[in-house]
Amino acid sequence: MSVAAPVPGELGLVAASANPDKVVEIREILSSIGGVRLLGRPAGVPDVPETGETLEDNARLKARAIMTATGMAAIADDTGLHVEALGGAPGVWSARYAGEDATYADNVEKLLRELAALPDRGGLRRARFRTVALVCFPDGTELWREGAVEGRIADMARGAGGFGYDSVFVPDEGGGRTFAEMGAEEKHAVSHRGRALRAVADLLALRQP
Ligand code: IMP
Repeated sequence: MSVAAPVPGELGLVAASANPDKVVEIREILSSIGGVRLLGRPAGVPDVPETGETLEDNARLKARAIMTATGMAAIADDTGLHVEALGGAPGVWSARYAGEDATYADNVEKLLRELAALPDRGGLRRARFRTVALVCFPDGTELWREGAVEGRIADMARGAGGFGYDSVFVPDEGGGRTFAEMGAEEKHAVSHRGRALRAVADLLALRQP
């Protein structure tokens, strides 16, 4: 399975995520760091079922599958939203919270509904986004890091940017705005994904000759 060749002097990593919104963010974050170029996920590789029990398991499944299909180093991101009052749910099930074919809107609506049904709506809305970013190399080695951001779930969706649960996640470092009300660069500066990818880029820099 062929993908575009990397540029000399840069480490080429094939995107293992099939979610275009995540790929846009991964590309933005990596290009702001430099030294790493994200190569497109080859068309024709089927979606990798996320059968793992942890974010790390699922990131590994995705990165391994794309590395095997392309023979090139691949990078995966697996992300979960953990809400305190829901015992850490939706967590590893974030993409499928409202069902197998759930849309972002379905998932957000279910989350707000579940929280509205709880007696104390104040202190129980604490939440954390976690991302595991994992790179798998053709020699079988891998490296990964986790990034997290603390915040709370808003009472209602706000903002038009971002994707997924961004319209209801209020990071502690955002001045009360949801991720969907922040610019992309502002989000990446504090986000789970930004933190995980910057940590992985540090490891990659150490690994390169
Ligand atoms: P997965 O990593 O593809 O399993 O993603 C899990 C789900 O979490 C996605 O389908 C999105 O709904 C949501 N998600 C992932 N990253 C973000 C983010 O940065 N902001 C908001 N929601 C996200």
